[in-house]
Amino acid sequence: MKETALKLLEKIENEGYKAYIVGGFVRDSLLKITTNDIDITTNATPQQLCKIFPDAILPSKEYGSVTLSVNQIHFEITTFRKEFSYEGNRRPTKVMYIQDLKEDLLRRDFIVNTLCMNSHGEIIDLLGGKKALEAKILETVKPSLESFEEDALRILRAIRFATLLDFSLSQEIEQAIYRKKGLLKNLSQERKKEELDKIFSSSNVQKGISYLLIYGLDEVLQLPKLKKLKHFPPSIGIWSFLEVEKQYPFSKNEEALMKSIRKASKAVLSELSLYENGLYASSVAGELVGISKKEIAQKYESLPIHSRRELAINGKDLMKAFKKEPGPYVHKTLSFLEEEVVKGHVANQKEALLSYCLEHQFMIG
Ligand code: ATP
Ligand code: MG
Repeated sequence: MKETALKLLEKIENEGYKAYIVGGFVRDSLLKITTNDIDITTNATPQQLCKIFPDAILPSKEYGSVTLSVNQIHFEITTFRKEFSYEGNRRPTKVMYIQDLKEDLLRRDFIVNTLCMNSHGEIIDLLGGKKALEAKILETVKPSLESFEEDALRILRAIRFATLLDFSLSQEIEQAIYRKKGLLKNLSQERKKEELDKIFSSSNVQKGISYLLIYGLDEVLQLPKLKKLKHFPPSIGIWSFLEVEKQYPFSKNEEALMKSIRKASKAVLSELSLYENGLYASSVAGELVGISKKEIAQKYESLPIHSRRELAINGKDLMKAFKKEPGPYVHKTLSFLEEEVVKGHVANQKEALLSYCLEHQFMIG
């Protein structure tokens, strides 16, 4: 990854511009964490970049970043800039391209995110990034109050980085969170959900959630159930527990999965729940209530059937055995038998199922 990135820097430099890897990749490689994408900062404008890289994609919005994929690595190339007068505590209303790297770094969120790497693979540390990295402390580049007022999303980014990197927050950040957390109300639910999702997906999620609770962000973020969370399943399990589908945007699939997880968590180990909600939703529900994945997988495996298709009888069998025309009874009877087989009340065997039908006089209409 690094080699590809350094070649890219060289290519930009060969055209007479400056270019550096910045932010996440540099920070994470010093911490020996793997990253998926690479951010590059340069004084070349998007148009100039597109001349150097014909495959690059020009930003859709003014002053956006150029994106480029090389060897399946995603690059985001952003031109050195200064940002002015933020609007709605998120977006700068005015951006100006500049020539100086340090000035570009000064508009960024955290000191550890200002570390750069040049085309020789050397670390460029203009604002004390290494020291902050060694101390494992997150500090804002600008005074924290000002920084969060400009862009309130930085509050959640601070908690996200502290969680993922296992860093602590500077006192200044902590105090600024208390004072500026109300501004989170002005941000879109999508952006907040993205950050929360990253926190909830971290192996260090407990720390992230305790930060959210300590600063009272559960209230501002409309997550009243957060303080009741005892166990930490995958992110979708946490969202399902929080029950905030009305407040945050989810896809139809996510909504269905969260519903199944909630249903499953009411009776995780019951045969019918395992069958109806499936192994994945059941094991997430298990994690939510503190039942081991192994126990759930074993119980799931031992179910007599795992889908209607495995039932030893079908509609045709029923009609033939009872010499009846098709009708709503077919579906009704099959559903009844399916449930009885899952519960272990009758063997999944054709003869047994037919006599079970008679015994229970289920064939009505
Ligand atoms: P990761 O990619 O792991 O999420 P990152 O630090 O690379 O972490 P990105 O969102 O990719 O974060 O942004 C790249 C860089 O751009 C950051 O390191 C930071 O320097 C700057 N940056 C990103 N978002 C903001 C913001 N909201 N305010 C100020 N600077 C930001
Ligand atoms: Mg990044």
